[in-house]
Amino acid sequence: MGNPKGFLTINKKEAGYRPVHERVTDFGEVEQTLNVEDRKLQASRCMDCGVPFCHWACPLGNKMPEWQDLLYKGKWKEASDVLHSTNDFPEFTGRICPALCEKGCVLNIDQNSVTIRENEAAVAEYAFEQGYIVPRVPKTRTGKKIAVIGSGPAGLAVANQLNQRGHSVTLFEKDNAIGGLLRFGIPDFKLNKSVIDRRLAIMEAEGIEFKVSTQVGKDIKGADILKNYDAVCITIGAGEPRDLPAEGRDIPGVYFALDFLRQQNHLNRGEEVTEIEKISAKGKNVLVIGGGDTGSDCVGTSIRQGAKSVTQIEIMPKPPEDVNPSTPWPYWPNVLRTSSSHKEGCERRWNLATKKFIADKDGKLKGVEVVEVAWEKDATGRFNMKEVGKPEIIKAELVTLAMGFVHPVHTGLLDELGVKYDGRGNVSTDPKTFQSSVAKVFAAGDAATGASLVVRCISAGRELAEQVDAFLTK
Ligand SMILES: Cc1cc2nc3c(=O)[nH]c(=O)nc-3n(C[C@H](O)[C@H](O)[C@H](O)COP(=O)(O)OP(=O)(O)OC[C@H]3O[C@@H](n4cnc5c(N)ncnc54)[C@H](O)[C@@H]3O)c2cc1C
Repeated sequence: MGNPKGFLTINKKEAGYRPVHERVTDFGEVEQTLNVEDRKLQASRCMDCGVPFCHWACPLGNKMPEWQDLLYKGKWKEASDVLHSTNDFPEFTGRICPALCEKGCVLNIDQNSVTIRENEAAVAEYAFEQGYIVPRVPKTRTGKKIAVIGSGPAGLAVANQLNQRGHSVTLFEKDNAIGGLLRFGIPDFKLNKSVIDRRLAIMEAEGIEFKVSTQVGKDIKGADILKNYDAVCITIGAGEPRDLPAEGRDIPGVYFALDFLRQQNHLNRGEEVTEIEKISAKGKNVLVIGGGDTGSDCVGTSIRQGAKSVTQIEIMPKPPEDVNPSTPWPYWPNVLRTSSSHKEGCERRWNLATKKFIADKDGKLKGVEVVEVAWEKDATGRFNMKEVGKPEIIKAELVTLAMGFVHPVHTGLLDELGVKYDGRGNVSTDPKTFQSSVAKVFAAGDAATGASLVVRCISAGRELAEQVDAFLTK
């Protein structure tokens, strides 16, 4: 620790967001950056705790104290090397990770954590700018061929790790570009897609083969993949969205959140959609059902498309602000989270259940009937929902359903391979070896554990690669 008094003398300083009036007119990243000197000072606030709970809280086990110290001392290359030793893609997590590390930071006992996530993005950006991150082509090849199916963070991490171990990796993606939800779920204003392209260029130069617009199970049979590869890694994500089977669900104007977000991401790439396919919030009252991060991304996207009003509703109660005694430090706190999108102008409401979708005389969506609910604990400690208010109608010409994802898509690849599912419909795997019920087929990421976080998927991809490597070389 270079500056033992940093945490006492330097105030926490976050880079903040671009002004609202400016950022809502484009899809550019909303987060700003600090200058190099301020960034180093922020790193100096790390106390190098004897027990680094930040490291414990990070699914990747990033060595926060080590690289905060290197950053403070201006040793950017070394900081980047330490960061990359545990995280394949710090430029992604530095932008969009909810930063479990910061919640575990001992300074967060006073809600005053080190700005670890921003520091991570700064180190990664500096390393790219200075040319520290260059292709590392494996010196020898093992002759083993691996198919990775699905190119989200889990697939990218497993491909990267196995390629570095000398195996020949082909990454199959059904969409027309690599990245999974990084590319077609998360909006550009959180993660600019040039950041993904920059990393892919390195991975391609290192020898990974990318096959886009190729749905395994449809365009190529799963059986052919099994025949032609020594190991198959399934990282297809949790593509089945949770539906809301209320009356009027089929009325035009009610969409899954991801269909709405994905289309905007395709449009941002310069692709075109027909007027009939277009899902637009322009001039509409938008209702987002689901109070989580996907819902928040729908809020920001609707605002940028020119929505008249945006309301986000959640069936659960409003979480406490700042501190929640039921989830104390160093655990992830279940508290109210307000995103940059929420600050752009949106009404947020809690304890509202959706009763039905209502159409106008032309059959178009005009509103949603909701009712206030309360949650009561029964004798067994379970919370039960009870309607307590009178039904009310929220005016909406566009609704996005952002209530999470249930499991991976079964039809096609998974059913064809005949993998077993767990009780929640995810691909059932051995917790240690990541092996599915089918020989030489492995799975990780959202497809195996359910919808989660980018950082968890990178971590699972790294662990999966280690297991596949052991399987191939045993
Ligand atoms: C809107 C939204 C915003 C999010 N924001 C954040 C955030 O800010 N921070 C965060 O940490 N997490 C966020 N998440 C969660 C995070 O994106 C996911 O947990 C993560 O991307 C899952 O990674 P994965 O590799 O398992 O799968 P995915 O990213 O889902 O990628 C799976 C890929 O497999 C492809 N595929 C599926 N079937 C086939 C097939 N048969 N053949 C070939 N390809 C196939 C899919 O097209 C997809 O590209 C967000 C999720 C959503 C939906």
